[in-house]
Amino acid sequence: MQITNAYLPSQVFAPASAGRAPRAFIAPQRYVQGPGVLAHMGRYLSLVGARRAAILISSGGQERHGGPLADSLRAAEIEPVICTFGGECSLEEIEKHARALKSRNVDCVVAVGGGKCVDAGKAVAFRLDVPVVVAPTLASNDAPCSALSILYTPAGVSTGLEFYRHSPALVVVDTGIVAAAPERFLVAGMGDAMATWYEAAVCLRNENAVTMVGARPTIASVAIGEVCAKTLFAEGAAAAAAVADDMVTDSLEAVVEANTLLSGLGFESGGLAAAHGYAQSFTAIPVTKAKHLHGEMVAMGTLAQLVLESRLDEARRVAEFFAEVGLPVHLQHLSVDAGDASSLATIADAALAFPFIANMPMHIDAAVLRAALLAAHELGVAVCEQKGDASYRRLHAG
Ligand SMILES: [Zn+2]
Repeated sequence: MQITNAYLPSQVFAPASAGRAPRAFIAPQRYVQGPGVLAHMGRYLSLVGARRAAILISSGGQERHGGPLADSLRAAEIEPVICTFGGECSLEEIEKHARALKSRNVDCVVAVGGGKCVDAGKAVAFRLDVPVVVAPTLASNDAPCSALSILYTPAGVSTGLEFYRHSPALVVVDTGIVAAAPERFLVAGMGDAMATWYEAAVCLRNENAVTMVGARPTIASVAIGEVCAKTLFAEGAAAAAAVADDMVTDSLEAVVEANTLLSGLGFESGGLAAAHGYAQSFTAIPVTKAKHLHGEMVAMGTLAQLVLESRLDEARRVAEFFAEVGLPVHLQHLSVDAGDASSLATIADAALAFPFIANMPMHIDAAVLRAALLAAHELGVAVCEQKGDASYRRLHAG
């Protein structure tokens, strides 16, 4: 992972010269969630004092959501400047919008879309030195609340990340829009969110572990991770059923909050560990990267992390939940052949290179990572034999 801009949070929170790292907690200033809230964006934007707002949105998003969004801005006497998002969070895309907006005197950037649009919006706002407002249209990832972006080449190859001095000023999650998206996105978000507690708990216990900003985890972020996991276990299956029916229910509201707010706060201030190391490493397998979502890769990574921790009962409990909602529980579910030694070596080497793999408290090398992944795979195969994988097959049909 390469860091591509000048702001390095670890130099602020925990410079190497300063001894033991302090605890740090990072969060957006405001979070609003509910059905139909996007149509009140103008009112919420009064919180950031907006008069002229850049709206970063794809052409499809503009078709679907542009009308009510523009109406609400007009009612609040805010002028929208529409920027069409091209689909990739690349430096080229970011610089293009930042250049075009420089002379337009916008006083905030509103990113309306999926994870890449959200991340691009943060990057554009950083370059213009204005607040960013995030309106995710999917609950497939925990990007909306964080002060960082994952960057890609225009062809979609991950190149590194950028950190920002400011967290989003406002996050507005319209659950009516999230409920209308395909079920697989919400389920993938559960895979990303479920890792939060296990990764943060490892970081809290291991006194040498640090978070994304180089700080120690807070008790708050680990507690948020715990309630995130508990919410998913209790409400995940009902929320997936609600999305399959395009319905906004209490379960859906709970899981959208878990996937977006709880997971976002938990990972940024709680820390990452092996689950995300494995998830990142699966992207080194081209077919896996092409066919699977980040949260789906994190799901398999979480099982492997729990095996690394020798928490086999918990790994089984999580695998049973994943099988129920349709997340991957074995390597075949990520289009990886468990008998292919070269794929396994590629994954283990890439996971070993992930910086936060060092947050795991035990000795880690490529052989250890490979063995834990294979053991998690076997456990997942056994869970599948017992429970079936009808949900997975339904989400991945066609
Ligand atoms: Zn993630």
